[in-house]
Amino acid sequence: EKRNPGEVEFHQAVYEVAESVIPFILDNPVYQKAAILQRMTEPDRSIIFKVVWEDDAGNIRLNRGYRVQFNNSIGPYKGGLRFHPSVNLSILKFLGFEQTFKNSLTTLPMGAAKGGSDFNPKGKSDREVIRFCQSFMTELSHYIGPNTDIPAGDVGVGAREISFMFGQYKRLRHEFTGALTGKALEFGGSLIRTEATGYGAAFFMEAMLQHRDDSIRGKKCVLSGSGNVALYCAEKIIQLGGKVVTLSDSSGFIYDEQGIDADKLAYLIELKTHQRGRISEYAEKYRCDYFPTQSPWNIRCDLAFPCATQNEIDKKSAHALVSNGCIAVAEGANMPTTIEAIKVLQHAKLLFAPGKAANAGGVALSGLEMTQNSVRLSWSATELEDRLATIMKDIHRQCVKYSDDGDYVNYVNGANIAGFIKVANAMLAYGV
Ligand code: NDP
Repeated sequence: EKRNPGEVEFHQAVYEVAESVIPFILDNPVYQKAAILQRMTEPDRSIIFKVVWEDDAGNIRLNRGYRVQFNNSIGPYKGGLRFHPSVNLSILKFLGFEQTFKNSLTTLPMGAAKGGSDFNPKGKSDREVIRFCQSFMTELSHYIGPNTDIPAGDVGVGAREISFMFGQYKRLRHEFTGALTGKALEFGGSLIRTEATGYGAAFFMEAMLQHRDDSIRGKKCVLSGSGNVALYCAEKIIQLGGKVVTLSDSSGFIYDEQGIDADKLAYLIELKTHQRGRISEYAEKYRCDYFPTQSPWNIRCDLAFPCATQNEIDKKSAHALVSNGCIAVAEGANMPTTIEAIKVLQHAKLLFAPGKAANAGGVALSGLEMTQNSVRLSWSATELEDRLATIMKDIHRQCVKYSDDGDYVNYVNGANIAGFIKVANAMLAYGV
């Protein structure tokens, strides 16, 4: 904390990993001797830059841009860009640190980074978003490249923003290379990338339940968020026979007791991704309950999927989930559960999948987009979904292997230790 004052989110992420990894390091002193964990908590570099752009009214606007290149021991830096007013160095360091373990778990050769800006794309015109993205990329282009650092999307950065940035990168560098993932299909994007994080979280939940001879079929599921992750997690749950009853946005949540079926979800995908509408419009159309300013964790359920943002399940919400009969939680978002809340869930023996395992499907598919770009081929949706399902099963297998809690699978320990070993061994191999 002395080294990184005030970086609360970063401290939280490191604390969670250290709790799992330190006992493992004490049993394996080779890692301690080389100070591997300390070295993993320090980014290779944090780049902070000025982004100046002009709004539609002709005003000059100023934002701050970031790229935190965390660790490239097992592959080029890889991780998303987030555009949201809350973005600061602490949040990007927490995300970059988590990315190190997540990318390691995917089995693909990817290092870790995260970046973004405190720019808020909400309420901006397309012209304004173009001008911001071009200015942002003008500086970022110095630090990225297909063998150096390959950014992707995250909150506030979807296909539209990636396209604007890729266009500018191509123009500046005078080359066409896969320096960003999440691109549109016409210029090197991959099928299934949009769906991958959400599908992956559902696959991971299915793997946890199958490990106990159970499945998603027939289960009542509560989800938060209605962005990229939540919508496609809902789609896969429905396909696997589960019943999705809630979704949310930053204004509140909807509770559809009948279940959100494929047709209703198609309406929601159109509403949220193309019309940029609010979730409350669903409640008006389908006459279901809408709870402004609340989260869905008090609703009785079997399975919970937090898919919106960090720290959305606190201790109180965790107690509510336990007393309402929930049996498993899979984090679609990054760090949506506080450390105290994780303890409550684990104490009650709920299955708990941390984001670095459960939401790794997105970056895994980005890795597959990089491969397709390198060989200049496009794989079919079926082939990619099969690969994604295999990767999620493999991540589950690694978590079970390194969990150390007897019959109860502690997925937090399993994911942290499995993710750590691969990166740590690479760092050892390089010497100092
Ligand atoms: P989106 O921007 O597409 O959607 C985010 C959703 O969460 C929106 O519904 C948003 O509501 C809601 N939300 C955001 N902030 C809050 C808040 N403070 N309180 C309540 N609701 C909120 O993002 P993604 O779906 O892409 O990402 C969601 C999470 O998943 C993030 O933690 C991200 O880091 C993580 N993630 C995403 C990956 C991806 O591939 N996209 C990969 C791995 C992790 P509103 O519309 O009102 O803003």
